[in-house]
Amino acid sequence: MTKIGILGGGQLGRMLALAGYPLGYRFRFLDPASHSPAGLLAEHLALGYSDQSVLEKFANSLDAITYEFENVPVEAARYLEKFVSVLPPPIALEKAQDRFVEKSFFCELGIPTPAFTTEIDDAFSFPAVLKTRRMGYDGKGQTILNSGSDLTHENYEGMILEELVSFDRELSIIGVRNKSGEVKFYPLVENHHREGILRLSLVTGNVTAELQQQAEAFITKVMIALEYIGVLAIEFFEKDGCLLANEMAPRVHNSGHWTIEGAVTSQFENHLRAVTGAPLGNTNPRGACAMVNLVGTLPDVESILKIEGAHLHLYDKTPRPKRKVGHVTFVEKDVETLQRKLDLLKEFVDES
Ligand code: AMP
Repeated sequence: MTKIGILGGGQLGRMLALAGYPLGYRFRFLDPASHSPAGLLAEHLALGYSDQSVLEKFANSLDAITYEFENVPVEAARYLEKFVSVLPPPIALEKAQDRFVEKSFFCELGIPTPAFTTEIDDAFSFPAVLKTRRMGYDGKGQTILNSGSDLTHENYEGMILEELVSFDRELSIIGVRNKSGEVKFYPLVENHHREGILRLSLVTGNVTAELQQQAEAFITKVMIALEYIGVLAIEFFEKDGCLLANEMAPRVHNSGHWTIEGAVTSQFENHLRAVTGAPLGNTNPRGACAMVNLVGTLPDVESILKIEGAHLHLYDKTPRPKRKVGHVTFVEKDVETLQRKLDLLKEFVDES
C-alpha cells in the first residue's frame, strides 16, 4: 500500500486525498491547524513544520512526500528529503516563494513577464503594483500606485514593484511531469478575478493553438530547468496575443479544479501519479467547463444541487470574508448550455 505524506492540510490536500483513495493510496497530513479540511479524511499531525523530530515522525514509513501550498519552509522540505523523496523538488519552492526570484527565473529562461524592479523609485513607469515579495496570495499585500508621487518614504525592503498590465485576459496553464520525464498539459484556462481572488475559471475552447503552444513551451522550460516532477501551474496575462508570466505554483492549482469532473484525469490524480512514479492519465477535457469559487459565505446547498449538472464541493471551512469555502463545476456539451447553467447559479452565487 502506497502511503503519501502531504505538507499542508487545506482544500487542495483534501482533493488530493479524494483523488488518491480510488487508486489505493493512503495519506498522512502535516498541518499546524487543529481543524483542517484534509484532516477529516486522513491521518493528520497537527504540528508545525520547524521541529525536526516532528518531521521525522511525519516521514516515518511514507513512500513519497509532496505539498499542497508553496509556503512550506524550504528547510523542512530539504530535511524530509533525507528520509524519503520530496516532490516536486524543493528548488521549485525556493523559486516560487519569492516574487523577485520567480520573475528573475522566468527572465533567465526567456519567458516574458511584466516589467518589475526591487530598486523602488519614481523612475519606474506608472501605474504600477507594489507587492510583497513573499507570502502574498489572493491579492493580499498588493497596492496599486498611479504615479511616482504615490510612493511614500517607507522602507521597501521585501517589496517588488511591477508594471500594471492592462491585459486582455488572464490565463493559466497546468502541466504535469512524471519520473520518467513524460509531460502532459491541460488546455489553457481563462480566469476571472475580483479583489485579487479567483472567482471563475472557464475552459471553453476559446484559446488559439498558437497561444496554447506558447504556454506549453514556457511551462516545459520551467519543468526541464527544475527537473520537475508533479503538477505545475503558471498564471499569465494575455496582451495582444502574447503571454506574460505573472506567477507559478509548484502544486495543484485552483484554476485546475474543473479537471475533477471536466477532464479525463484530474490534476489531483495526475499529481499523485507523477510523484509515485506512475504513468500519467489523459488530460483531455470532457466538454465545455466552468468552475465557480464560493468565497466568503456558504451558499444555499439545496438551490445549487437543484441545478442539473452542478458538481458542488465544500471544503468544511468556516466562512470568513475572502475565504474560499468551496466551488461548483459544470461540464456541458456546448458553451451555450454552460452559460445557461452559470446564469442559474448567479442567482445564488454572485461570482459566476
Ligand atoms: P497575484 O497575487 O500576483 O496572483 O495577483 C492577483 C491578481 O491581481 C492577478 O490575478 C491579477 O488579476 C491582479 N494583478 C496582479 N499583478 C498584476 C499586474 N502586474 N498587472 C495587472 N494586474 C495584476
